[in-house]
Amino acid sequence: MILTKSVFGKHENKDVYLFSLSNDNNLTIKITNFGGIICSILMPDKIGNVEDVTLGFDKLEDYINGHPYFGCIVGRFANRIAKGKFKLEGKEYQLAINNGSNTLHGGLIGFDKVIWDFKEIKTTTEVGIELTYRSKDMEEGYPGNLDVTVCYTLSNDNELKMVYTAKTDKTTHVNLTNHAYFNLTACNENIHGHQIMINADSYTVSNNELIPTGEIRKVDSSPLDLRKYTEIGETINLVDGGYDHNFVLNNLDAKLISAAKVFEPKSGRRLEVLTTEPGIQFYTGNFLDGTNKGHGGTNYKKQYGFCLEAQHYPDTPNQHTFPSSLLKPGQEYKQTTIYKFTTE
Ligand code: BGC
Repeated sequence: MILTKSVFGKHENKDVYLFSLSNDNNLTIKITNFGGIICSILMPDKIGNVEDVTLGFDKLEDYINGHPYFGCIVGRFANRIAKGKFKLEGKEYQLAINNGSNTLHGGLIGFDKVIWDFKEIKTTTEVGIELTYRSKDMEEGYPGNLDVTVCYTLSNDNELKMVYTAKTDKTTHVNLTNHAYFNLTACNENIHGHQIMINADSYTVSNNELIPTGEIRKVDSSPLDLRKYTEIGETINLVDGGYDHNFVLNNLDAKLISAAKVFEPKSGRRLEVLTTEPGIQFYTGNFLDGTNKGHGGTNYKKQYGFCLEAQHYPDTPNQHTFPSSLLKPGQEYKQTTIYKFTTE
C-alpha cells in the first residue's frame, strides 16, 4: 500500500495538500486537508478498467470557488436545523442561516471549507491520514470549543474507513458526516441504472423545506421501501423531486452495521456503506444542474451522483424524540463509517 502527499494549492496563505492512498487492488483514493474532501476514488470495474467513481475536481480552486459539498466532511451539524435555532440549557442559540430560512451543513463556513491539520498514517495493514480541527466557541453560532478528529484509512479489504471523534468544553450539538457523491458508471450515465438497498424500516417525514415534522413513518408500500435491491430509476420519479430523505436505520444500539448497498450492473461495481450512526441521508443529486465541471471536464448534471450520508437525523436539536446529538464536556463523540468497494 502506498501513501503520497503533494501540494494541492494555497488557501488563506497556507499550503493545502492532496494525499493519495492506494492499496494492492488498484484502488486509489485522493483526499485533501481542505474540508477533508475525498476528491477522487479511482476504482477498477469488473474487467479491471480504472475510473473515478466520485464527483469532484482536479484543482483546489474549484473547491474553494464553491460546490454542492462534494466529498467533504460536514459539520458541526450535518443537514438542516430549522430557522437555525435551538435551545440548550435555557439559552437560545442562533446559527448562521444559509439555506432559505434554515441552517444547512454547519452554516456559512462549515467544516467543509476549513483547512484541517494532518498526520500521515502508515501501518502494515492500512494507509491514511488523521485530520484534526478546532471549531471555536460560537463559530457559526455553536457553543463550545469543539476538537474534532477524522481518521481516513484504506486497507487491502477495499474499505475506506472513517473514524470521527470529538470533544467539547461546553454542551453543544454535533452531527458529522461525509458528503461523497458516487456514480459507479464514472458518470458515463446518470444514476438511474444503479440498484440500491437500504437497511431501514422507516424514515423521518419532512415538510417542503426538508425539515422533519417529527413523524417517523414506516417505509412499507412506498417508494422509500428499499429493503430489497431496487433500481433507482424505477422509483425515483414516484418521489417528489427525487430522493432526499433521512432513513432510520435498523441500528438502535450504535453497532457497526451494513446500512446500504448500491450495485451498478454494467460495471459490476458495488459500494457498501457500514455505519454506527442511527440514520442515513439518501440524496440523489437532485440539485445538480450541470454548472460544476469535474474530473476530465465531466458535467455533473441532475441525478448524476448519489450520496449516502451516515448521520443523526436532521433538526435533532429541535426534535426531542430523535436520538440525541448532544455532546457534553467529558464525553466523547464517536462515529465509524466505512465505504466498501467490490466488483462482481
Ligand atoms: C441534503 C440536500 C442538499 C445537499 C447539498 C444533502 O445532504 O439532504 O437537501 O441539497 O445535501 O448538496
